Amino acid sequence: MIYEDYYIFTPGPVKMSDEILEVGAKQTPYFRNCEFSDVTYACEKGLLKMVNAPEGSKVIFLTASGTAGMESVVMNLLTEDDNALVVHGGGFGGRFVDICATHTIPHHDFVVEHSNLADIETLAPKEDFTSLIVNAHETSIGHIYDLDAMGAYAKKRDLFFVVDAISMLVTDPIDMSVQNIDVVIASSQKGLALPPGLTMVILAPRALERVQCVKSLYFNFKDYLHNGERGQTPYTPAVTIMLQLEARLAQIERRGGVEQSIRSAKAIAEYFRESIKDLPLKAYTPFMPNAMTTLTPTDGKSAMDIVNALEDGYKIMVCPNGGAERDIIFRVSHMGDMTKAYTDVLIDALHDYYGKN
Ligand SMILES: *Cc1c(COP(=O)(O)O)cnc(C)c1O
Repeated sequence: MIYEDYYIFTPGPVKMSDEILEVGAKQTPYFRNCEFSDVTYACEKGLLKMVNAPEGSKVIFLTASGTAGMESVVMNLLTEDDNALVVHGGGFGGRFVDICATHTIPHHDFVVEHSNLADIETLAPKEDFTSLIVNAHETSIGHIYDLDAMGAYAKKRDLFFVVDAISMLVTDPIDMSVQNIDVVIASSQKGLALPPGLTMVILAPRALERVQCVKSLYFNFKDYLHNGERGQTPYTPAVTIMLQLEARLAQIERRGGVEQSIRSAKAIAEYFRESIKDLPLKAYTPFMPNAMTTLTPTDGKSAMDIVNALEDGYKIMVCPNGGAERDIIFRVSHMGDMTKAYTDVLIDALHDYYGKN
């Protein structure tokens, strides 16, 4: 069953705007030409601006899901001479740990709970690290880290700082220049509110210096950087998603820039949290991003039952967790083309559900 007429509050794919959907409905054009190179340049320029990348930064466009961005960064930019401090606060942090292990990159599995790492100085192990890796928003539990504190820590110790910003771009602030970030990983289907399939790796000059020869054809950054000089990719890009990205970046600008999108996401997240205060649901973490609210039932109900009731009774998709968290939490995304009116559908449904159950 395809749920196309459902209300979508899942953390990827997220609700897309009609304007972007219309771009996706058009014939995919041929791309080995100047016209398409201009699309690539526009996407690169818009992304670099969005994260305030330092002068000389470059963007690599991969036709792949976000995990390929994570893995390719570890493959191309870290070596066996590194010692990476990998923040592990949930499923996505665990994935970075697995990637480092797969590519035999020395690393410390830094398990973090109940902290946004504002106090990373005291919490981090007293070891010599070369690199710091984090998923800025740990989407598996809806927990956001303090990039200012982490960036200051990275700068003080001269750490190569890699940030997976996939699920906080456009809804929560990030600034490569101010926060000393060397690499940002972005992906199409979360905050950028595009279909899945396109992943972008933003490399600051310090990251460009690190690019090495790798044992991989598809994930060889040198090839992407070389082709990128003429606005192309070595292999067929997700052409239509690139066109949608160009349109989306223009849309964000037209709506008042990324700062305005962040303010809007914040207002909607706060509105949602305020509107369900009377229900037996509590926030799972005090460190919530604007991108998402993670809720725990306080009346003994199973989170999974609520997810199912919303889907079956109200045509609303929120996101369940698996494993041990199945009954404990569910997640509500505020990413994408959200409005208060759209969010009201979920707020009303939750009130109606609790009125009956
Ligand atoms: C969604 C997500 C990814 C990428 O997942 P894919 O399924 O490979 O696209 C990576 N990191 C974070 C923090 C995410 O939320």
